[in-house]
Amino acid sequence: MTDKKTIKKSSLDDLFKKMMADGKRVLAPVRKGETVLFQEVDGYSAVAADYVQTTLSAKEALLPRCEEMMRFTTAQSTVSLEEGPAKPSPVVVFGVRPCDARSIAVVNAVYLKDYNDALYKEKSDSTTIIAVSCAKSDEYCFCTSVGGSPGSTEGSDILLTLIDGDTYLAEILTDKGKAVVSIAPALFAAAGSEVKEKHLADVPVQFDLGALEKKLPGAFDGAVWITQSLRCIGCGTCSYVCPACTCFDIQDETDGTRGMRFRCWDSCGFGQFTLHTSGHNPREVQSQRWRQRIMHKFSYQPDQLQVVGCVGCGRCSRACPVDMNILQHIKDIVEAR
Ligand code: SF4
Ligand code: SF4
Repeated sequence: MTDKKTIKKSSLDDLFKKMMADGKRVLAPVRKGETVLFQEVDGYSAVAADYVQTTLSAKEALLPRCEEMMRFTTAQSTVSLEEGPAKPSPVVVFGVRPCDARSIAVVNAVYLKDYNDALYKEKSDSTTIIAVSCAKSDEYCFCTSVGGSPGSTEGSDILLTLIDGDTYLAEILTDKGKAVVSIAPALFAAAGSEVKEKHLADVPVQFDLGALEKKLPGAFDGAVWITQSLRCIGCGTCSYVCPACTCFDIQDETDGTRGMRFRCWDSCGFGQFTLHTSGHNPREVQSQRWRQRIMHKFSYQPDQLQVVGCVGCGRCSRACPVDMNILQHIKDIVEAR
């Protein structure tokens, strides 16, 4: 059973200081002009409060945008590996929205299910997620249509919900969450009969996920992909802001006899994503790439990994430079005869 406590908003700065004194880096949403991004902070006063959703997700704490995998030295016909990247230090990510916390299950399914990716696993093991429920939403949010909610606990180690102006209900969900409480037990009080539901944003269900999953296999050769993607410029922004996108590219860079292998996020929206060295490209046009994005998230991943590859955060629609709106496009697919 979930352990429930309360913590005062005015105690969060003390909690941050205690976590840092315990050797943890604390990342939290920080406002930078129009954007709100996860950054390392040295106290709660730096944390942004006036936003629906961060511009980028906290995925980067577990899966960096660009990450060193190994260094090597070449000598004639031999290659010697050098010491791998340093072990990650413990991190607490504060202020993650419940949809983003749920997205960790999608990334885990790709990086830990069939193959145990050591770099990802190390970061996953050393990261604690303190999520904060959503009290407000916008027209792009659709977490409830894909199995989530503004107060979902999935993927969080602690979930905080503001239940009055200065008090958070704290659901302590995992051993990592308990470890945070044990650093500063005096800051937490036993919860009474407080419930979080009436303090959550109202996010209506907008489409039937089961109907979408049933419909997609038969829609593969339909014209919908062409009409929906006519204005897509293949910039890849939708993938880069997505907390549940997992594709990457691996490259080696060398300088004389020394080299580094690294992996970076990639996007199925790019024309070169599937380009073979032969010159053949199985996804020659943007409509095929758009189809892949939707099929992968709502058909292939549910079939193969038992996760839906979208948590309804709405970032791709907010960020798309040509106003492609994934929610509207999904609704159109579900409602099409
Ligand atoms: S952000 Fe918009 S324009 Fe860019 S690839 Fe995605 S859907 Fe296409
Ligand atoms: S596909 Fe769009 S709405 Fe879904 S999780 Fe990714 S960014 Fe969020």
